[in-house]
Amino acid sequence: MPRRRTRRRRREVRRVPRSDATLPEFDRGAVPEGLVTRRQLRDMGLSPGGNDGPVAILRCKWCGYRPQWACIHPTRGYLLRVDLAVPKRVPTLAQEWALDAAMAARQTCGDCKRRFYFCLSKKLGCCIECFDGTPVDPSSYFASSAPAAHRLAA
Ligand SMILES: [Zn+2]
Ligand SMILES: [Zn+2]
Repeated sequence: MPRRRTRRRRREVRRVPRSDATLPEFDRGAVPEGLVTRRQLRDMGLSPGGNDGPVAILRCKWCGYRPQWACIHPTRGYLLRVDLAVPKRVPTLAQEWALDAAMAARQTCGDCKRRFYFCLSKKLGCCIECFDGTPVDPSSYFASSAPAAHRLAA
């Protein structure tokens, strides 16, 4: 039966002797100084920076009992070099301002100049009230910028 065959083949673990592993492997607790996992790097507020890829592998818990085999398990971690990492880029004030301006442009109706809490349809280019007269919920836009004329019309 073909089904059985595939299942059996899948169970065969393609184990490689540790000496043949493409990257050096370290057991948990025996990682040399200067190497950390991606997650640890992130917790330190760093981004991979000059790391082109993992330089070593953090073996999974299970492989501690099988030191002669390379770890090919999904729970293994990839180790990066701390000295190549760079601080995570924090958006500057100007970038933040530009982002906010872009948001404002997408949320503001071109006709009545009201700014909504959501992005308006690009196709319409205005709010639905200006488009076909459907009254908009007053809680959906910033009240301060609402022209009085529009309120009376609605
Ligand atoms: Zn393993
Ligand atoms: Zn409008």
